[in-house]
Amino acid sequence: MKNNFLFLFLFLGLWSCSNSSSDSSNQENASSAPQEVTVYTHRHYETDQQLFDQFEKESGIKVNVVNASADELIQKMTNEGEQSPADVLITVDAGRLVRAKAKGLLQSIESATLEQSIPAHLRDADKQWFALTKRARVIAYHPDRVKPEDLSTYAALTDARWKGKVLIRSSSNIYNQSLMASIIANDGEANAKSWAEGMIANFARPPKGNDRDQVKAVVAGEGDVAVVNTYYIGKLLNSKDPEEVKVGESIRLFFPNTADRGSHINVSGIGVAKHAPHRENAIQLIEFLSAVEAQEIFAETNYEYPVNPAAKASELLQSWGSFKEDTLPLSKLGELNQQAVILFDQVGWK
Ligand code: FE
Repeated sequence: MKNNFLFLFLFLGLWSCSNSSSDSSNQENASSAPQEVTVYTHRHYETDQQLFDQFEKESGIKVNVVNASADELIQKMTNEGEQSPADVLITVDAGRLVRAKAKGLLQSIESATLEQSIPAHLRDADKQWFALTKRARVIAYHPDRVKPEDLSTYAALTDARWKGKVLIRSSSNIYNQSLMASIIANDGEANAKSWAEGMIANFARPPKGNDRDQVKAVVAGEGDVAVVNTYYIGKLLNSKDPEEVKVGESIRLFFPNTADRGSHINVSGIGVAKHAPHRENAIQLIEFLSAVEAQEIFAETNYEYPVNPAAKASELLQSWGSFKEDTLPLSKLGELNQQAVILFDQVGWK
């Protein structure tokens, strides 16, 4: 028995020596083996798993993945409290990250690497969350019926010439709530309200379906323009359903407001959980995901743009051309979410 303990001490001594020469984060990890990090994520792509595998191989830190919708994960973390095994939370839409922060589910972290690789408007000012991928909310149009020079801004979609031609989903959807929040932040509440009224006046039909359904309706001739997130076009073009591919090929994209504030963008993002049992490992994983190599892979799986300016967008996204993005701090979208919902309600946008 005594000998067994001696052997264990010798082994641990050797093991920690062999780790002491590596970087600082590994030094911290050397105290308690085996190393792991638990990821609560809304994303469920094969490539994300490949990236986690690669991180595991490079760092020796095992990645445990818990998949559910963002709202379910936020609820789960709330219920688990201090006992939560979550180290990081990955969600889509800045609104949800702001919500997680407001509920006290995240913590601030210091990382010079993240501050360098992620532009300031794409991360929380209190360092509680960081964007990982980016999408723009743009106008999809039918090139037979609309010329790009007919289009300019979100506000111009309320012009009389678009009467009965505009397709956009319901206001219960967070993408529209975030778009509305950006309009409130940029143009003020009164203008945001008349924008919503003007849009309703130009609706091709009462809002129904998701972003892809709006694009399909444009191709079917129900309207001429649809407001959609960029990656849905990538999804249509890469669909197993040939009808969807045809829809994707039939439309063109226009990036609104490039002459002024830029197109409205949103993100997938990540934050370290308030009670993360493996805080340093969590930071290491986030730094890994924000580096150029991972960024290009991470973004490409969902036809999104990388947030790290040194990373290249996929060929498809490059084919849509570069665009000017609205650099409104994303935290504003979360802060103004409630006001956006109320405005939609007041004007009767279903
Ligand atoms: Fe989506």
